[in-house]
Amino acid sequence: MENTLEFTQKGTRFKCKLCAKCCMLEHTFITIYDLKKIYKAAPEYIFKIVSFFSDHYEREVLAPIKDPKKQMKCSFLEDNKCVLHGIAKPLCCQRYPFTFILEETVEENGLIPPEDALKETIYFMGTEINGYIMHAKTCPGVSMDKGEEVNGEEIARKTIKNSLEHLKTKNQDLKGLLRKLQYEAKKRLEFLE
Ligand code: SF4
Ligand code: SF4
Repeated sequence: MENTLEFTQKGTRFKCKLCAKCCMLEHTFITIYDLKKIYKAAPEYIFKIVSFFSDHYEREVLAPIKDPKKQMKCSFLEDNKCVLHGIAKPLCCQRYPFTFILEETVEENGLIPPEDALKETIYFMGTEINGYIMHAKTCPGVSMDKGEEVNGEEIARKTIKNSLEHLKTKNQDLKGLLRKLQYEAKKRLEFLE
């Protein structure tokens, strides 16, 4: 975590530079929630998703197809823009480059937040959750003077929703679900022709 993320300072701003760095190389994991949303918004895009075994998660996962000949570009990236933006962008991409790290995870990893770190407390299903906002070091859109001020609460809520939806994909037949939606999408598209 400490290699790729850094603590976000209070007052930090964000303006996406559309450099598409975040849509290359790393895998974007798609939850069942995302998959259904994509299918509903644009059934043809369901064919741009694959299921495979992730060594990192030690289970089957869903992700957009990546093109190894084009710097592992995400299949939803066209002209450096995400075609799912505004219609069905995956949860993990919605909050990028920011994330919410629980206070205990920060401690367990031996990280020491600076005094001006953006800390957030939210109440979720009657439980108080404390943590810090962190961001990807490589994103050039994060600064102290350009774009909108970072909304820590919104990032915390999106991160928690994403984590819960990830948990729900555990032990599910993702390959079977994807195959079923692709079959239904094919029928829908044939009907519209
Ligand atoms: S790396 Fe940052 S600035 Fe570049 S496209 Fe991604 S979010 Fe935007
Ligand atoms: S789904 Fe969109 S935002 Fe997410 S990695 Fe792919 S192109 Fe980028």
